Amino acid sequence: MMNRSNAQSITTSSGDADIIMGQMMPCPPNIPSLLEYAAHHHSTQRIISRRLEGDIHSYSYRDAYRRVCQLANALHTLGVKVGDRIGTLAWNGYRHFECYYAISGIGAICHTINPRLYGEQIEYIIRHAEDEYLFVDACFLNLLTPILPQLSSVKGIIVLIDESHMPDTHDLIIASKQSSFIVLNYEALLNGAGSDFNWPTLPPDTAACLCYTSGTTGNPKGVLYSHFSTVMHAYASRNPDALNVSADTVVMPVVPMYHVCAWGMPYIAAMAGATLVLPGDGMDGPALYELIEYAKVELMLGVPTVWLRLLEYLEENHLQIPSVKTVGVGGAASPKALVEALDKQHGIYLLPIWGMTETSPLATLGARTKAMENMSDDERYHIQTTAGKPMFGIEIEIFDDNNHVVTHDGKSRGFLRVRGPWVLRDYYKTDKANAFIEDAHGNEWFDTGDIAVIDENSYLKIVDRAKDVVKSGGEWISSIDLENAALEHESVSEACVIGVKHVKWDERPLLFVVPHPPLTHKQSADHPEPQVSEQELTLKESIQSFLATKVAKWWLPDDILFVNELPHTATGKLQKRTLRDQYWEYLIQQK
Ligand code: ADP
Repeated sequence: MMNRSNAQSITTSSGDADIIMGQMMPCPPNIPSLLEYAAHHHSTQRIISRRLEGDIHSYSYRDAYRRVCQLANALHTLGVKVGDRIGTLAWNGYRHFECYYAISGIGAICHTINPRLYGEQIEYIIRHAEDEYLFVDACFLNLLTPILPQLSSVKGIIVLIDESHMPDTHDLIIASKQSSFIVLNYEALLNGAGSDFNWPTLPPDTAACLCYTSGTTGNPKGVLYSHFSTVMHAYASRNPDALNVSADTVVMPVVPMYHVCAWGMPYIAAMAGATLVLPGDGMDGPALYELIEYAKVELMLGVPTVWLRLLEYLEENHLQIPSVKTVGVGGAASPKALVEALDKQHGIYLLPIWGMTETSPLATLGARTKAMENMSDDERYHIQTTAGKPMFGIEIEIFDDNNHVVTHDGKSRGFLRVRGPWVLRDYYKTDKANAFIEDAHGNEWFDTGDIAVIDENSYLKIVDRAKDVVKSGGEWISSIDLENAALEHESVSEACVIGVKHVKWDERPLLFVVPHPPLTHKQSADHPEPQVSEQELTLKESIQSFLATKVAKWWLPDDILFVNELPHTATGKLQKRTLRDQYWEYLIQQK
């Protein structure tokens, strides 16, 4: 006889039906259970951090877990409750790691704040999230002083630093304008707290972490991850066809913990019991090299610019990093020049990744396959410059203007949409209904704002952000493809393409180049502005003729401008809007 309590009525397309429920234990894993697992079963594996105090710190998952329990007790003492938002403003380090686990573990929400945002944006998101406390690296306190009077929800600041290095925080207390405002030292807070903690049983959908997009258009928008979505994302991401992380792996996220949870690595590493290396504020060549050598890092994650800088440093100093096997690259397209340099100079596999804040962020990856061993370099590099394939759980599709699915032939472009258990279904306290679109079958998709192609083998390639594509005479020129072609030229260190106004073609591409080595500009008394030098003209011609061998003729930029540096967003991406605003009339004014 069927146990009726085990059945549930549902409505299907052919009417109502009873379904039989599975009989497994209802104990879905949550965020503290990841660290509990690492502390029990990989107890001596290490978390190695570069500290802002100047040294390198190393402790075990067992020690980390003990301190996380202490922090959880301390949060209760501060009066933090389930659902409260607690902000963090910190580099990648063990104390930030502890905040991730303790805050979410007690059922509060860990709100990571990007210190590279403008002051007004930081103020906006702290007010929007209504953070109760802020856990802050000492070096970021000065960002808060001017905005503190406006942050009425914030009851206090906890400074992430040794007691002996605690800075003078008198100014903060005065700036707060609240008589009860407190500024505490993190270590002092932990010292008084017990090291046993009973984690509450939380529904899997309980909010765990809040991250805001960089707000390249309009105000930043909050994406609220749950315990379930975070654990699912970690399960999928550590697989061999994704990041391939095991207890044996030494991983270093060079993506910051203040933006999209360092691509989930603090959770993935604990789930695997992997050695986790956290680079603090040392994201430049010398600091990264030192830590890679110290910890024998095998897998690193980061945006392309970080690796371009590291490669330049290694080359200039004739250095190698033999422990590194794989570099996961996302946040922007992987340029072929980078794929090739990592492969040929260091034997490192560039693992391409696509994702966004709204997708937790990892969604598609291009893992190494056996078939690649028999491919020519060019065939392999071609795959490595795509954005890879979706992990199980993530569905991707491209649609045309009429909401019809576009053919997967590697050429036909469409608007990239995505769905899955770690893709957002709403922004936090913000109505953005037009980002969610139903297909012909009634399935809801998140519209990414990217334009993409998908090939016959399911490899995705981002052609452009919809707002960045250059619309020349009704045809589209991919700014990403043109930038990547330029990056293959030996004298191009960084490239940026924008569409600017053109009388005949509506828009034409303008290419900005940071030359390597830098140009030596000649100044003259009657021309305070640097003159266009011989050297500049020669380089322009050289880049144009190089590009002519790489892209269609009508894609060639109408002009090339040399700059010392390019504007970047708070997440290190090219800030094209600034350039577009400044240079929109450039070609017209040149006439
Ligand atoms: P934001 O800067 O708004 O926070 P994210 O950091 O979430 O945005 O970045 C998401 C965007 O980055 C994607 O929508 C896409 O345009 C770009 N991006 C990420 N990975 C890739 C990739 N592999 N190729 C091309 N573009 C990428």
